[in-house]
Amino acid sequence: MNGIIHFDLDSARPPREEVLAAQELPPAGALSPRLRDLLEEAFAEFDARAEPRAIAGELSLAELEEVLDGFDGPVEETVIGQIYPKGEAFALYVATLGTPLAERIRELFANNDLGRGWMLDAVASSGADRLSDLLAARFESELNGRGHPMSRVLPYSPGYCGWTVSGQRKLFARLRPAEVGVTLNDSCLMTPIKSVSGVLVAGPGEIHRFRPDFAFCDECKTRACGARMASVLKR
Ligand code: SF4
Repeated sequence: MNGIIHFDLDSARPPREEVLAAQELPPAGALSPRLRDLLEEAFAEFDARAEPRAIAGELSLAELEEVLDGFDGPVEETVIGQIYPKGEAFALYVATLGTPLAERIRELFANNDLGRGWMLDAVASSGADRLSDLLAARFESELNGRGHPMSRVLPYSPGYCGWTVSGQRKLFARLRPAEVGVTLNDSCLMTPIKSVSGVLVAGPGEIHRFRPDFAFCDECKTRACGARMASVLKR
């Protein structure tokens, strides 16, 4: 799980139902004609402009601890801080859908084409999240091939579940994702937008189980950790 990875569009393109659910919209069959047109236009734009790729690098537990040491908060009070000590293998990653797609979203909003901008942004957001899942599946498959058939991999990212975005600095310093065209600004936000980053943690499904009762959980709208845990515990 080292080096640059290029994804084909068929893999990176998010399912329509996933995009709609993330926007709390009804299924495609129940959309108004206007929304259905916007959705199809957005997928056509995605296919025309997305350049999905990633850079990843495996690292040891000690090396990961060095990366996690660099953000403004106690790592023990984060989800990643509870999970990584139980992990058996780790890989840092940064993935992106590339500049042309990000530029098109910016252009639509700049032109006040809000409907098209919003729908393309929604498709691209789901597509970017999908890259993390594709990398997790790839790492899991590699580990299985190396004789670890029970390994289950989940991605954990700065900016979520207590790991603040300032954690990006050490992650970027180690991985150097400029090679795939992703840079970090002073606020630790990635350019181009629609890029994702994090650490893939591998081990038996049970290592990903935790109780979501941190102080920051009170403000969580998605409660996405429940489905994530279930996805590795049920296999
Ligand atoms: S409830 Fe939300 S913030 Fe808390 S661990 Fe789950 S996903 Fe993260």
